[in-house]
Amino acid sequence: MAKTISERDKNSVWHPFTPQLSNEAITIVRGDGALLFDENGNSYVDAISSWWVNVHGHAHAHIAKKISEQANILEHSLFSGFTHKPGVELAEKLLSQFPQMKKVFYSDDGSTSVEVALKMALQYWRNKGKAKTKIIAFENGYHGDTFGSMSVGARTIFTNAFEELLFDVIAIPVPVKGNEKRSIDALKNYMDENTAAFIFEPMIQGAGGMVMYDASALDELVWRCMEKNIITIADEVMTGFGRTGKMFATDHCETKPDIICLSKGLTGGFLPLGATLCTEEIHSAFRTDDKSKTFFHGHSYTGNPLACTAALASLEIFEKENTLKRVGEIAAVFSEWVKEFSVHPEIISARSCGAVFALELKTEGKTEYLNPIAEKVNEFFPKQGIILRPLGNVIYVLPPYCITDEQLGNIIGAIRGFLTLN
Ligand code: PMP
Repeated sequence: MAKTISERDKNSVWHPFTPQLSNEAITIVRGDGALLFDENGNSYVDAISSWWVNVHGHAHAHIAKKISEQANILEHSLFSGFTHKPGVELAEKLLSQFPQMKKVFYSDDGSTSVEVALKMALQYWRNKGKAKTKIIAFENGYHGDTFGSMSVGARTIFTNAFEELLFDVIAIPVPVKGNEKRSIDALKNYMDENTAAFIFEPMIQGAGGMVMYDASALDELVWRCMEKNIITIADEVMTGFGRTGKMFATDHCETKPDIICLSKGLTGGFLPLGATLCTEEIHSAFRTDDKSKTFFHGHSYTGNPLACTAALASLEIFEKENTLKRVGEIAAVFSEWVKEFSVHPEIISARSCGAVFALELKTEGKTEYLNPIAEKVNEFFPKQGIILRPLGNVIYVLPPYCITDEQLGNIIGAIRGFLTLN
């Protein structure tokens, strides 16, 4: 008998973050709104937006149509010495959202948008004749899986195998409630003449367990960096495009970063694309007759027209459908959930920020990624028709904004059920 896709998968595909002795994968054949469908016709509410990328729903007709039209006109062209309308239009559109920004540099995904940001910041100083190399980051941060982005993230099970090869970064405490002073004192203590940049996930540390902190605490840190001429890099790869309640997390802040990294929700979750935005000041260090000061960075698919078209279509939907209003409604539901679970005996902490909700579960033993509760979560929720992937002992909901109230109800019902089992 012919093998199923999941049987063939086992023989040929190596999946990300997946132990290789237990690689069972559900075959997804179709998506519609907040739902994904498997080969047996089962549906799943995609409660985590397929790794935080989906924004308006799966297979959204408007984005699909625009990509299809563009594919018949121009699928790709090189982007050095050549340009195209979708690339220019998207850059203009993104810049209109960030008045302090001057230029958009495209890459492929979140990790590369961070690599570009780091290289841009370091080369800025070198081009100015000051070889500053020290980078400050938050403890518990995550910025991607390439070497530079791993280096500025926390040292965890994800990075252990490469520890000796990662460059050193100064890690300061995250300014969660009650920790603000420790964070600021550490920054003040560590920043010096050699400090090139401070990189952070604004308001929510995603992969670190949906750790949340106030925009005002970030303002204070960014402000200190500005005083000392330290480049600030906001990694909005997860927080961008509405997750925190505003279009971008840095929209909650009074201070503005020098460099912003975008990806994930940028294309509405349709195609991979990274964008790194920088200010006039950063860009000015590269505008010179000296060709050795060029930013020698690029990827084959830089500025891919299909991806840029998807991003433009997604931004159109934000405007046409007033998507941020729905984000506000989801945020209100999540606030109610936080109230309910704050007093739950199985919960250490219930928190939300915009359309992101997280529960830290009481567990035996370690609270890190390989926590045994993760396996229980991975087994339980798909059987309830829900896709939830835990971060260690943290389960979280980060849905496409088209999710219905009924689907939200299904998710919270399943979470309640899960907690009674444990
Ligand atoms: N930065 C942040 C804040 C992220 O959450 C992630 C991915 N989870 C990345 C960067 C890396 O993005 P990608 O997986 O697209 O390389």
